[in-house]
Amino acid sequence: MSRPTSAIIDLQALRENFFLAQNLAPNAKSMPMVKANAYGHGMLEVANALADSAPAYGVACIEEALALRKANIKQPILLLEGPHSADEIGIAEQYGFWLMLENHNQLQAVLSAQLSSAITVWIKLDTGMHRLGFQPEDASYVYQQLSDSPNVAEDIVLATHFACADNLDNDFTRQQLCNFEVAINDIDQPNLLKSLANSAAILDWPEVKDDWQRPGYMLYGASPFSVPQENAEQLQQVMHFQSAVISTRSIKTGESVGYTANWTAQRNSTIATVAVGYGDGYPRHAPNGTPVLINGVKCPLVGKVSMDMITVDITDLNDEIKIGADVTLWGPELSVTEVAEYCGTIGYELLTRMPARVPRIYINAK
Ligand SMILES: *Cc1c(COP(=O)(O)O)cnc(C)c1O
Repeated sequence: MSRPTSAIIDLQALRENFFLAQNLAPNAKSMPMVKANAYGHGMLEVANALADSAPAYGVACIEEALALRKANIKQPILLLEGPHSADEIGIAEQYGFWLMLENHNQLQAVLSAQLSSAITVWIKLDTGMHRLGFQPEDASYVYQQLSDSPNVAEDIVLATHFACADNLDNDFTRQQLCNFEVAINDIDQPNLLKSLANSAAILDWPEVKDDWQRPGYMLYGASPFSVPQENAEQLQQVMHFQSAVISTRSIKTGESVGYTANWTAQRNSTIATVAVGYGDGYPRHAPNGTPVLINGVKCPLVGKVSMDMITVDITDLNDEIKIGADVTLWGPELSVTEVAEYCGTIGYELLTRMPARVPRIYINAK
């Protein structure tokens, strides 16, 4: 007795994806990005599953970092946007959080904080994405200020973020790499620690040499690329978003299905109704034809996505589909990237916005 809809999360697949990130750059440390509830997979469960091998974690904000500490995660936790207010610096000291500093307000707040021990900071440089980061020409000044401060530990890392690394062989990434090298060449210090690579760069830009790489999306087993890529072929999708058929019916040529009656049968058709909808994070703007697996076979979504249900054309299936038949919205056999492309979005969004209503069921915990 329960709604058949759930997200099965394979923690062994997660660990293997993390090992792939590590193996692609054996000399770098790999910091799993677990922000936004680990891209919808469950932050605490994901962090725990990687706790034996992760040297640190990355999150977007201090609330996420505190939740990890409360769950007994011991590693350093990097706040990717730095402190949102000065009081977060003392909390970072207290709990062992690292701060990615990206603007002069944050810099001043760290320099003037009253701390009893030094904290670890990273310096984010804006090499072209123009979202966060110090200007490259300020790199040397910022580095000097921080390395002279008793509030700051010695292991300062210089970081930047790529805008277009998911685009194979893109000049913009090359330009960002070049801007980064120029900026840090100004710093009068040997052996600077660096962090550049997101998933796309880890998988496809071997020329990016990191001390710390920052894998996110790839950990969850989805490819950031819209075309096949050799390393990405090895990823295993961690989430299997599944449900079941709860009703079937036959309709005649010319009859329509769903809200706004936007799909009309061109032939006598069989329609399966599935217990999943936009209230479960299935995208409402999924168009007619979006693939859904029914008993493992690709069938087209037809009609508008409702809050709690979708309708699928199963006319071409040879097997008789009974109530209770298995449905996959995305999973190892149907990539979330493919579904997202039909919907004019990216898999990141589909995973991240999956609501708490969908129970997460964890398998292969050890
Ligand atoms: C989220 C994030 C990442 C991870 O990006 P993916 O494309 O998911 O691998 C890396 N670095 C920063 C700064 C991020 O915010």
